Amino acid sequence: MVAAHRLPVAWDERSGKWKTSPGGLVSALAPVLRENGGVWVGWNGGPGGDTKSFTAAGIRNRPVVLSESEVENHYDGFCTGTIWPLYHDAIRPLEFHRHWWHPHQEVNDRFARAVARAAGPEGKVWVHDYQLQLVPAMVRQRLPGARIGFFLHIPFPPVDIFERLPWRRQVLEGLLGADYLGFQTRRAVLNFAAAAREITGAQGPASALEYDGRLIRAQAVPISVDLAQSKAAGNAPEAKAAAERLRNDLGEPEHVILGVDRLDYSKGIDLRLRAFEVMLQRHPELIGKVSFIQIAVPSREDVGEYQSIRRKVEEMVGRINGRFARASWTPVHYLYRNYSFEDLVGAYLAADVMMITPLRDGMNLVALEYVATRADNRGALILSEFAGAAERLTDALIVNPYDLDALAVALYEAVVMDSVEQTRRMSRLRRTVGRLDVHTWARQNLEAIEG
Ligand code: UDP
Repeated sequence: MVAAHRLPVAWDERSGKWKTSPGGLVSALAPVLRENGGVWVGWNGGPGGDTKSFTAAGIRNRPVVLSESEVENHYDGFCTGTIWPLYHDAIRPLEFHRHWWHPHQEVNDRFARAVARAAGPEGKVWVHDYQLQLVPAMVRQRLPGARIGFFLHIPFPPVDIFERLPWRRQVLEGLLGADYLGFQTRRAVLNFAAAAREITGAQGPASALEYDGRLIRAQAVPISVDLAQSKAAGNAPEAKAAAERLRNDLGEPEHVILGVDRLDYSKGIDLRLRAFEVMLQRHPELIGKVSFIQIAVPSREDVGEYQSIRRKVEEMVGRINGRFARASWTPVHYLYRNYSFEDLVGAYLAADVMMITPLRDGMNLVALEYVATRADNRGALILSEFAGAAERLTDALIVNPYDLDALAVALYEAVVMDSVEQTRRMSRLRRTVGRLDVHTWARQNLEAIEG
C-alpha cells in the first residue's frame, strides 16, 4: 500500500482517460505496485468525485475525496501556509489556525481509513510526505500488526523552529506510529530525533528510538532520479538538437546560465538574479556575451506569498533587462510555464552553468538531473549548501545563497571555468550520481519497512 497526497494518475479532460503523472516517485513505485498487486491511496486532485477504486496504468487506485473547503483549509492552509514554511526554516511568516488544523486531522483520518480498509492486518504500508504525517499512527491504531513506513520528501527543521507548532506533539506522535521513517538528509534525521526526544519523551538514538513500547528507526535514504531515463534523455539526438536550437535562438551567446524551479519562495530565485546583476556590474566585459534563462514553473498561484515572490522576481527581471539589455541582446530570459522533461533536458544540455540556490530544499532533483544528463562531462553546477543534494554533490560549487558576494563570485567562477576544471568536477559528480537511482531508493525504503 502506498499513501500519498496525490494519486499517481490524473484525469485528462481532453482524452477522457486517466493519465500517469510525471515524476520520479510514480516511476519508482508503479512497477513495485504492479508486481505485488498493491494499492495507491491518494487524492483525486479536485474537489468531490468518487471513492470507487479503479485500475489505471496497471495500478490499483483508491481515491480519497476532499471537499472544496478541505482543499482550502487542509492543503492550501495547513500544508502550504503552516508546514511548508515551518519545515523550510520559517523563511516566510508562519500561520497557525485551528480552522486549518481540524480539517487537516480529518483528512489524515480519511486517508488512514482508506489505507486500513485496503491493507490486510499484516499489510505493508508506505506513507509519503508532509501532508500525511498523522497517518502512520492512525493506521497503527486500526492495524496494530501492519508494517508501516513513512518518507518525508521535504526538510525537517531544527527543534527550535519546529517547537513553535501548536500541534507539535500530535505531529510527532503521528510520525512515531511508523516502524521506519526515511528522510532526505542526515541533518533531517537528527532534527527529527531531537524533536521526538524533547517533545514526546522518546528515547535513544535516531536508529533505535523507543516510544510507546515500540522501536522506531529513523534513517537518511535520500531520493534520486531515474538514472536510465535521465541518461537516455541526455543522449537523445532530439535533446542535443533542442539544445543547439535554444543557443541559436539566444543569438549564440558565449555563456548560458540556467535556473529551473517551481516559482516558490524557498528556491532563492530572487537572490540568484541579484547575483547575476552584481556579476554584470562587476564584469562589464560579459555584457552581450552571457544569457540567463530562468524557467519558473507556476506553483500555488492562489496563495499570497507565491503571488508576491512572483511579482518580486518579475520586477527584478524587468529591472535587470532594462538596465543592461541592448537591441541585439537580452540578459535574462524568463519563462513562466511548465516544460516536459524532454524539453527541460534540451535546456540542461544548452546550459554551461546550472544555478541552484534554494534557501532550503529537501533534495532538489533538478541538480541531479543536470548532472545525470551531461554525458559530455561539461558544464558547471552552482549549488546551495541548503539543498539536500549538497550532502552528496560535494564537487559542485557549493555556496551560501544568503551571501550575495559569494554567490556573485561563484557565478563568475562558473562562467569563466575552463574545460579541464569543468570535466574534472563534472566527471566526479557523474560518478556520484551514477551510484544513485530512484529504483534503488524505493527498494531500500521497502526493505527498511519490512525491518
Ligand atoms: N520539472 C518538469 N518541468 C518543468 C520544471 C521541472 O518536469 O518545467 C521537473 C524536474 O525535472 C524535476 C521536478 O520537476 O524532476 C522538480 O523537482 P525538484 O526536487 O527540483 O523540486 P520541487 O519542485 O519538488 O520542489
